[in-house]
Amino acid sequence: MTELVSPAYPGLGDRLAQIRSDIAEACRAADRKPESTTLIVVTKFHPASLVRELAALGVRDVGENRHQEAQDKAAELTDLDLNWHFIGQLQTKKARQAARYASAIHSIDRERLVDALAEGDRAIDAFVQVNMTDDPGRGGVAPAELERLAERVAAAPALRLRGVMAVAPLEEEPARAFARLADYSAQVRAIDPAATDISAGMTHDFAEAIAAGATHLRIGSAITGKRPEPR
Ligand SMILES: *Cc1c(COP(=O)(O)O)cnc(C)c1O
Repeated sequence: MTELVSPAYPGLGDRLAQIRSDIAEACRAADRKPESTTLIVVTKFHPASLVRELAALGVRDVGENRHQEAQDKAAELTDLDLNWHFIGQLQTKKARQAARYASAIHSIDRERLVDALAEGDRAIDAFVQVNMTDDPGRGGVAPAELERLAERVAAAPALRLRGVMAVAPLEEEPARAFARLADYSAQVRAIDPAATDISAGMTHDFAEAIAAGATHLRIGSAITGKRPEPR
């Protein structure tokens, strides 16, 4: 048999398999089907070669949080059938460029960004990011502004409102934070019943996120290993 995976990233396939099995286990515990979740492997700071290896292992969804880096990797890997999920803070002036390679943007946090993306020529899946902390410097819209922003996304021709996204605050029990997020999700579903998705859950809290209904898991280091220093 030919070796499908090069030895450049030892253990990568095993870690991926372990996380897939942990996800399935958390789904069973929550009485959910594993197919109700999408695993997005967060590949930020890792080279394109690692993304290529993940694709060879069957990964289809990858997450990136910096526009320049994501754009470069996507350009290098156009031969692969990958969905690029943009999960970081996005500058308004870079929005149209990100919309060229990204199939989904999880970090919609202000009206100006919606307006910049509204008239694109390709439909983008849009998640409204909610700030779960009291610190306005953290990513996401304040909960009080969520409905207004979600309405704006729902009205934007090139955006398909998929639901909400959040990062659980370090200082809060993840299960509690994700229970709040489920309430925010209900607010968005009241605006658009099709916007049922919840992007939540990272390396250390994906089981709690699954229990609270997360549909899009953004998992990095548990699969890729330690991240290199940002370039
Ligand atoms: C880096 C990152 C992740 C993945 O974090 P891990 O702890 O490595 O799983 C998920 N979501 C966002 C928004 C990130 O920036």
